[in-house]
Order: sequence, then structure tokens, then C-alpha cells
Amino acid sequence: MVKIAVIGGSGVYDPDMLENVRQAKVETPYGEVELQIGSYAGRETAFLARHGTKHSIAPHRINYRANIYALKKLGVRKIISTTAVGSLNKAMQLGDFVLPNQFLDFTTGRECTFFDGGERGVVHTDVTDPYCPELRSQIAEIGSRLNIHVINGGTYVCTNGPRYETPAEIRMYAMLGGDLVGMTNVPEVVLAQEAEMCYATISMVTNMAAGISEHKLTHQEVMDAMAANSQNFRSLIMTLLAELDPDEDNCECAHVLSGVGGFKL
Ligand SMILES: [Zn+2]
Repeated sequence: MVKIAVIGGSGVYDPDMLENVRQAKVETPYGEVELQIGSYAGRETAFLARHGTKHSIAPHRINYRANIYALKKLGVRKIISTTAVGSLNKAMQLGDFVLPNQFLDFTTGRECTFFDGGERGVVHTDVTDPYCPELRSQIAEIGSRLNIHVINGGTYVCTNGPRYETPAEIRMYAMLGGDLVGMTNVPEVVLAQEAEMCYATISMVTNMAAGISEHKLTHQEVMDAMAANSQNFRSLIMTLLAELDPDEDNCECAHVLSGVGGFKL
């Protein structure tokens, strides 16, 4: 059974991290999902390229429900997601890794829940801790051991994209307490929580947001920053994959729906 998954964002489609990689297709009620399964440190791990393997799916068109459902169906218990983010916070600089602990949702029109009536009914999940505190502290601990700068905690502002933000929007987000800005964590984190899986995001700061940076932002700039930082990212993920115990159950994530009989496939 595959119990750990990595969801890769912009610039981190690197299944070379895994051995004996095979392509897999998983059928879900929301559509088919293509992903890769390989082993690392003797453990089966799934690798899902969020934007498709050729970066061909825009953030607002990603089939988040199918992706999360497919991972649940494989048996995944812990998801390590990666995102490239802009920073609104001068304490979070280019090259830093941040583990968000909160989000602000500015997306529109996305399928954002498994519980929109129908067979599953309507369930209101608690999102006091949308990102698994256990998983976050494990990643932070590995970062400090490897001497990689990892900041545990921050508020991720999710915009709809695919355009970047205006300086006026960035000023507003900063006023509201946002630290990072990206386009994919919502509803991904929400769906993972609804499906009772541990989920943490390693956000790589690839640029300072519009109005905070002194020049205009390009996608190339984001990709260049990712490339420069990829060795640290690999070290962090590889160590985590080797050490993470997918059966460890010291958090609430696997029990979010215990009051309503759990999440059923
Ligand atoms: Zn958890």
C-alpha cells in the first residue's frame, strides 16, 4: 500500500527522487488521475505533479478533488505538498522554506469540498489546524538538523490566478496578516483534511510579491529561484521520506470525521 505522497508544484516534477518508478492511473468519481509510484528507503511513495507533467493545467483548473481522492484510494495517510510562493513578509526571504499553518482563501469557482450535498451529505469540518502540526514539526526538525532555513508557521494567501497579484492586492493581503501568496493550497489542504489525511506544505519563497519586489515578476524568475534551491529541497524531502512513519498517529488528522463515521471511499 502507498501511504505517503508528494504533490509537486511548479518546478519540482522530479520523480528521479524515487526508484523503480511506474506510471499509474487511478479512477475516481471526479475523473482519472495520472501519477507516479516509486519506492524510496523501502517504502512506496506516490508522486503527483499538480499542474500535470508538462505544467499544462492552470491553478484554477486543477482537479483537486480527483487528486486527493486518488491518493486516499491508494491508501495514502500523509501528504507532503510543495508550492512556489511569493513573500509578503520581509522575514521570509528568497530561498527560505516556509511551512504554512493558516490560510486566507481568495479563490472563486473551484470545487472545494467532498461534502456538497448528494450521497455524502453536508459536513462542516473544523479547520483550526488545516495543516498537520505533527508533520510540520517533523519537517522543521529535519530542516534545523540539515542546516536548511525552514520557518514553521505562516499564513498562506490563496489567489485564483493564473495572473500574479497587483501591488494593491498585495498591500491588502499584508494588512490582513498574509505572509505568503500562492494559487494552489486551497482547496487542496481542505480536501486532504476532509479525507482525513495529514497534509503539510513546504512553500519555497521564489520571489518577493508585487510592490514588495523592486521589479516586475516573471515565471522565469520563479523557475530560476526553484532551480537554485532545488538541492536543499531534495535533501529536505529525501530525509523526510526516509524518516516519516506513515502509521504514526499522534495528531487529529485521521479522525476529523469520527463524529460522522469517517471518510468513505
Ligand atoms: Zn496529522
